[in-house]
Amino acid sequence: MTPQLSDNYMVTIAERLKSAYARIALAEKKAQKPAQSVSLLAVSKTKPVQLIIDAYEAGHRKFGESYVQEAVDKIKQLPHRDIEWHFIGPIQSNKTKPIAENFSWVQSVERIKIADRLNKQRPNNLLPLNVLIQVNISNDAAKSGCPVEEVSELAEFIAQSRQLTLRGLMTIPAQTDNEAELIASFSQLRACFDTLKTQYPSMDTLSMGMSGDVEAAITAGSTMVRIGTDIFGARDYPTQQH
Ligand SMILES: *Cc1c(COP(=O)(O)O)cnc(C)c1O
Repeated sequence: MTPQLSDNYMVTIAERLKSAYARIALAEKKAQKPAQSVSLLAVSKTKPVQLIIDAYEAGHRKFGESYVQEAVDKIKQLPHRDIEWHFIGPIQSNKTKPIAENFSWVQSVERIKIADRLNKQRPNNLLPLNVLIQVNISNDAAKSGCPVEEVSELAEFIAQSRQLTLRGLMTIPAQTDNEAELIASFSQLRACFDTLKTQYPSMDTLSMGMSGDVEAAITAGSTMVRIGTDIFGARDYPTQQH
């Protein structure tokens, strides 16, 4: 790539980030939420390290990845100490160690066995791993996530794990064009979050909303949206299956 092309490319990522922030700001305003109450996770899965560097140079610090090996390769190439890496993909139990060693957040914990392994494998010289429980709010058997009725048991387990900090909940709703339905499911998770938070004050993060449903999620009380496509462009290989 010639320097000039590369410069143009950087402007593009910076501009896309700027529009993502503007979209969030507008949604906060419309939903009468305080300005900057919703944070942005830039989802860089499947995208080259250069695009992460571009976003970093534009001032962004929170990045989300879904595939363990790909993520660890990128993290090793970017030893910036102030990047906050979030793991957001499905977790197989034989992949918990690299997650526990390389990330500061995991948003996709859905069962005790995985939480237990992450707790035991989190190195003692690192701060506790910040954990979100991924909740299945769509009553869809094929979807991943902890069933709503099992969330409180998992929350209790995480809260009493020394090397884990329970920070909140995350969800990926079933796809639908029905905005009202979407807001209703997101609101159901917000209610669950508010209830649990009275018991676990370390909970401060409700991660919901992706490129397609940022406004619905913010209306329902999201505190973090996870945006991939709108910042980095369409992906060549598919989003996680769920
Ligand atoms: C890929 C992914 C995203 C980003 O999705 P976009 O539609 O590209 O914004 C958000 N959350 C999770 C869990 C993902 O796997």
